Amino acid sequence: MVLLLIAYVIARLISGTDSNPLIDGWLAIAAEASMVAVAWLAVRRATAARAEVCWAAAAVTSRFFADSLYLLPFSDIEPGTSFPADVCYLLFYPFLLLAMAVRARRRLASVALPVFLNSAIGALGAAAVLAVVLQPVIGMNTVGAMGWSASIVVLYPVFDLAMVAIIAGVAAFQTSDGNRLWVLLAFSLLLLTTGDVLYALVEPAGLYAVGSLVDLVWGLAILMLVLWIDGLADRKEPLIFDGDREQSLAVPIIAVFAALLVLLLGSQSHVSVLALLLASATLIVAAAPLVFRQRMLHRITRTDELTGLPNRRALYADAPSRLKNRGTKPQALMLLDLDRFKEVNDSLGHDVGDLLLMQVADRLRRELGPTDLLSRLGGDEFAVLLDDSERDNAVHTASAIADSLAEPFMLEGITLQTSASIGIALFPSQGSDLRLLLRKADMAMYKAKSAHTGHHVYQTEDDHHGDQRLRTLQELREGLRTDQLILHYQPKVSLDTGRIQGAEALVRWNHPTRGLLSPASFLPLAEESGLMHELTFVVLGKALDQAAMWQQRDTPLAVSVNVSASSLVDTSFPDKVGAMLAERGLAGPSLVLEITEDFLMGDRDRARTILTRLREQGIQIAVDDFGTGYSSLSYLRDLPIDELKLDQSFVFPMTDDPRAASLVASTVSLAHGLNLRMVAEGVESRAVYDQLTQYGCDRAQGFYMSRPLPAEEFDQWITVRGTAGFTGGSDFAVDDVLRG
Ligand code: C2E
Ligand code: MG
Ligand code: MG
Repeated sequence: MVLLLIAYVIARLISGTDSNPLIDGWLAIAAEASMVAVAWLAVRRATAARAEVCWAAAAVTSRFFADSLYLLPFSDIEPGTSFPADVCYLLFYPFLLLAMAVRARRRLASVALPVFLNSAIGALGAAAVLAVVLQPVIGMNTVGAMGWSASIVVLYPVFDLAMVAIIAGVAAFQTSDGNRLWVLLAFSLLLLTTGDVLYALVEPAGLYAVGSLVDLVWGLAILMLVLWIDGLADRKEPLIFDGDREQSLAVPIIAVFAALLVLLLGSQSHVSVLALLLASATLIVAAAPLVFRQRMLHRITRTDELTGLPNRRALYADAPSRLKNRGTKPQALMLLDLDRFKEVNDSLGHDVGDLLLMQVADRLRRELGPTDLLSRLGGDEFAVLLDDSERDNAVHTASAIADSLAEPFMLEGITLQTSASIGIALFPSQGSDLRLLLRKADMAMYKAKSAHTGHHVYQTEDDHHGDQRLRTLQELREGLRTDQLILHYQPKVSLDTGRIQGAEALVRWNHPTRGLLSPASFLPLAEESGLMHELTFVVLGKALDQAAMWQQRDTPLAVSVNVSASSLVDTSFPDKVGAMLAERGLAGPSLVLEITEDFLMGDRDRARTILTRLREQGIQIAVDDFGTGYSSLSYLRDLPIDELKLDQSFVFPMTDDPRAASLVASTVSLAHGLNLRMVAEGVESRAVYDQLTQYGCDRAQGFYMSRPLPAEEFDQWITVRGTAGFTGGSDFAVDDVLRG
């Protein structure tokens, strides 16, 4: 593209002033055609910004068609006289405008008005200046001496400058990394304007001929435009408008100065009425924000930038009066918090998290009535004040919202499912002012979250929930110190031989008053309060003690320990674990660490370093709950992993659902293709056990073989089976397999 343009320029310079069909015809067309080709190649390549690249390419193409009508050597149309060519030239603008609109719409969800105003000021100011510059032509035109083509000639530069102004207005909002690219676009349009102004001045006098300087300027302008398109196609854009940026005032300020200058000029000498009108309009539009300033400020400070919903401030401002005005009519305050949102943010990035929030906001809007007050409090938390709503009605709305959120979301080509926990507090029975309702809805929401019920209506008991949490936390600290945590062991069985290959250590809390507690009832608390790290080492110590015991008894078994992502990020973790193994005289392979996908998704390099250092000591790495994380599979390729543990949710439905079964079968071959061991979790029946064997799955773990058992019972369990291993159900024989 560049070479062809250079060739054209050189040829043009060498050949002097005469028109030459080879240069001004074929070479010029080839140069422009190559630009069109580059633009459409960019469309093919574009991912994030496809629509705008496509419209921009269409703009370049329409210009190319118009030029070709004149440039084709056998065309003998006089410059500026072809109606179809003018239509094509004019189409350039709506196409480019569409490209800009797609772009602006994507980036500026909620703040379009100020941008629009700035662009309008810029466009009017530019038009006013142009009206002065082009006065000779306009003057002739009003006399009526010219036809359609000549009057349209004046329009082109006006359109060009209007585009420049719009772009400048929009560009004021671009994030810094985008800045360089739009400059290319602005320059291209400025060049185009220059070309068009020259043409408008020269053409009526009959001085224009194909191949003059104007054509070079135009060629260069289109070249820059295509470079812009090309750059756009490669862009991975930050998807969302970055709300912290101040809007640049350069465009409206320059436009206002220009308009003042035009008016000043008008007072000194003759300036066309059109120019004066345009200049006045510029000043009027520029003043508009001053008039509406208060209202706009009000709107902006009360709006959540990401979703365009009212924000926390708006809720605090509006809700009290709504509660009061409706008298004793029942209303309900609903607090909604997305489940596992942090995981989405951590694993897929904040852009995707933001997109998810925007779509969630859309779905919430759809489920609510026009008089319900929906707002985003921040993060993944939304509040709704349901108008005229009894308890039943509120619960019904909550389930409708849950159903709507259960539909998968499409984000940047990723399909994602989410759910929410909703707490409900009722007005006026449970509280008469907003603060109280918010507090109660919050407690109810917490309850819904911990009980996994989706939604929960506040009850007086929930009040104690907060206190109880604190108490439990205190007790857990105490429990860690006084050795109240114990481990249960569940065997992992080799599917082809029935041999017992190892055991997973699963933590339980032997609570002094509440009995044996399952991990689900205290691990989240440990995680939130930063106790997880300590807990992991307590569990590791106990599990390795047990492994050492098995080794002494000459029945060595590998022990699997679950490690949370938060414990693993500690870079000294591999050394500490190595020391623990050495203290007990254990080799690396007697320990398997079960990690979850969210750890692998965080900082990939760090994960690789830590896993590699663990693996150098012979420790094995398993990915737990495989298939449930929001991860791409690419980590399987670059991280050191030995084992995949397919989540139970895939295994349970296997015997009834052929699709579930084929998913399991193909996951087994995926694992084997990558040289990984496949372990199926949640094997509860003979049928599943047999089917897994048939699929070539390596190992199985589940209630069918054994529930997790306390250490002594587990030892008995293996003693009974002794050397036979597990051959199925209650009729298994005994085998010396433990060493296998
Ligand atoms: P996990 O690592 O996926 O462990 C398997 C869970 O599935 C265990 O639940 C086990 O009792 C259960 N299970 C095993 N076979 C079957 C079956 O056939 N059917 C059904 N329905 N369930 C089966 P558990 O012990 O309640 O542990 C739950 C989760 O808590 C574990 O899932 C693990 O993620 C976590 N966890 C347990 N102990 C620890 C620990 O020491 N540290 C950490 N960080 N997490 C732990
Ligand atoms: Mg596990
Ligand atoms: Mg699991």
